[in-house]
Amino acid sequence: MNEPAAPKPAPRIAIVGAGPAGCYTAQFLRKRWSLADIVIYDRHDAPYGLIRYGVAPDHLGTKAIAKQFDRLFARDGVTFVGATDIGTDLTLDQLQADFDVVVLATGLWADRMIDTFHSAATTAVGAAPVAAAPLAGVYGAGRLTRLINGHPAESVQGLHIGRRTVIVGNGNVAVDLVRLMLTPAEVLVSHGVPNEVAAALTAGPLEHMDVVGRSPVYAAKFDLAMIRELGKLDDVRFTSDSPGDDVDENDETAAQAAGTDAPADGTAKADAIRELVEGSSPTATRTVAFHFGWTPDRVFASDAGEVGDAGEAGEARVSRVTFTATPGAGQRDATLELSTDSVCTAVGFTETEGALLRRDAIASPTADLERGLLADGLYCVGWFRRGPVGTIPANRADARTVADAIIHDVEAAAAVLEAAVTST
Ligand SMILES: Cc1cc2nc3c(=O)[nH]c(=O)nc-3n(C[C@H](O)[C@H](O)[C@H](O)COP(=O)(O)OP(=O)(O)OC[C@H]3O[C@@H](n4cnc5c(N)ncnc54)[C@H](O)[C@@H]3O)c2cc1C
Repeated sequence: MNEPAAPKPAPRIAIVGAGPAGCYTAQFLRKRWSLADIVIYDRHDAPYGLIRYGVAPDHLGTKAIAKQFDRLFARDGVTFVGATDIGTDLTLDQLQADFDVVVLATGLWADRMIDTFHSAATTAVGAAPVAAAPLAGVYGAGRLTRLINGHPAESVQGLHIGRRTVIVGNGNVAVDLVRLMLTPAEVLVSHGVPNEVAAALTAGPLEHMDVVGRSPVYAAKFDLAMIRELGKLDDVRFTSDSPGDDVDENDETAAQAAGTDAPADGTAKADAIRELVEGSSPTATRTVAFHFGWTPDRVFASDAGEVGDAGEAGEARVSRVTFTATPGAGQRDATLELSTDSVCTAVGFTETEGALLRRDAIASPTADLERGLLADGLYCVGWFRRGPVGTIPANRADARTVADAIIHDVEAAAAVLEAAVTST
């Protein structure tokens, strides 16, 4: 009688980052190796990355994705180790020495900056340029969405949105900000937004928002559902400066000039904005003006001393922003100038400056990023692997690709070893 085959030893696996990419990867690896020792490290006390600290709190369905990951830790035997920053609390070398496989799923959290908006070229009205430093009243969307989601390291200190704000960007995060900033404080609080954050966002009270995107309307990055959701807001009139019929929607030149592809549903995007504008109340007391085809130019500060009610004495605050027409976007004017109390930039995310774990620095000459391979036994997944684009479902697909590559590599190595042992 044949002896039953001894169970194959399962690998020890460390995953760095408990966002959706890390959690989906753990799920796929657990399915293959029920006995593997799988540990997920995160620098935060609590898991789930941007599901917890990025996704808007009123998007309950998306937030609920975290619940399916709870069972990873409660029932599937995956260990969560929080408050452990890999790179400082534990080095990558230490992890690689302790585990057979290490997967980096650390995301990309830092706000992409617009150089002339966030630091240099901030010019006090009628005065010499202000030294390169963050100007009061200019905020990155990452900071705002972390605040809204109660991130423990963010503080409401110095946050002043005022009566008029400019949102730069026309992706889903920009639309999240439009919706959340026009939602009553008590509703925000009912979704778990901290009291002081809800109060600061609505303190202005906000009367007017300008939402300015680089692309023409048909190449804007927002999803249709996000725009339609804005139609449910009370007491808001929407306007748009999209030149509409002047733009040939099949012509991709303008979209390319804005650094995007004209998407297949471009006409539907233009229609969604038109319907939002036409369906809104002309007598509403709050307005949101969409501007398409404008590239950020400069931010101007009020004279020091000319501060708003929330400004520190002598503090120079943003007072005006300018944009130039994106080439080929069909704008009739060369510049757009907006006066404002604050500016919120939502133009994407990037690597934190000085990050200890940088993909390009870690990748070996034999890296194969298509499969998530960085070096022997070292993999990457999610936003860290493919850049800060894509929703949570895209990370599931990504995790499957990388988990398959890990399973293939580990089992191929085991087969080689087994063959060598058998032949001796
Ligand atoms: C503001 C915002 C709103 C969004 N809203 C939606 C939405 O409504 N629907 C949707 O589908 N998608 C949304 N997305 C996109 C979605 O959040 C991302 O696709 C997804 O979170 C990326 O997953 P990730 O696991 O790669 O990275 P992340 O979610 O960023 O997770 C990375 C994890 O790694 C940890 N980490 C980083 N560095 C270290 C380190 N050195 N040591 C230990 N741990 C570390 C972080 O703490 C974090 O928990 C939104 C994104 C943003 C920014």
